[in-house]
Amino acid sequence: MIRSWWRGLQARRENAALERRAIPDDLWKRTLVRYPFLQRRAPADAAELRRLTSLFLDRKEFSCTGGLRLTDAMAVAIAAQATLPVLRLGLDRYDCFVGIVVHPDAMVARRSQQDEDGVVHEYDETLAGEAMEGGPVTLSWPDVRRAGHSAAQGYNVVIHEFAHVLDMASGAANGVPALPPDLPLQLWQHTLSREYEIFMQRVDQGQPTVLDPYGAHAEEEFFAVASESFFVDPLRMQKEHPDLYGVFCRFYRQNPAVDQPPTRRP
Ligand SMILES: [Zn+2]
Repeated sequence: MIRSWWRGLQARRENAALERRAIPDDLWKRTLVRYPFLQRRAPADAAELRRLTSLFLDRKEFSCTGGLRLTDAMAVAIAAQATLPVLRLGLDRYDCFVGIVVHPDAMVARRSQQDEDGVVHEYDETLAGEAMEGGPVTLSWPDVRRAGHSAAQGYNVVIHEFAHVLDMASGAANGVPALPPDLPLQLWQHTLSREYEIFMQRVDQGQPTVLDPYGAHAEEEFFAVASESFFVDPLRMQKEHPDLYGVFCRFYRQNPAVDQPPTRRP
């Protein structure tokens, strides 16, 4: 009795949110044209993507820095891309944070690193985005805006940062998100580590790679860049990393290569 009352309340809340955050048809169509990797989906998935995008907009708080003004088109573009990885996992995976901060350009973060001799080196790192534990997620708007074009290089800053959110939701960022019961932890770790080693060798040898060489920094970065490619350039990712592609299909419960035609390199 209590459970059915609770479900009814949840459904009413969700319907109210969908009404509050309804995305106009023309804005949704423009978003799909600008980011083609969003639209190559079966009709049921396409409808679910739009529904979850509205709910995402209702649950998250957007803010801008540097005089940038947030438009509906920007918020929908970010929300739709962020929703894609959790299309079958559910928005609850993102409950661990609320804020999204949009920057007018790439960000520069001051970093320091200690070398083997104990000497601390300071340097600047340019970031297109950053996901902090507990939030917020920060994004460079020019990088988000270019996502339709940069898909051919497997690059997508929103998916990258939200892959980190999924990873961090299960504890430390280590490339191991909360896995479904039918995907053994050992299989995930073994596959990810093996593919990461092969990838690092290719990067070290200066060989071309489908995945962004940035992924060679650490296993959690490898998971994030591989997730980008999985969603926006799935056929080439599947060809170069078939085993990794297979475990990603089981984790994300999607098979983007089936729905998506090959992307053209500019
Ligand atoms: Zn990263």
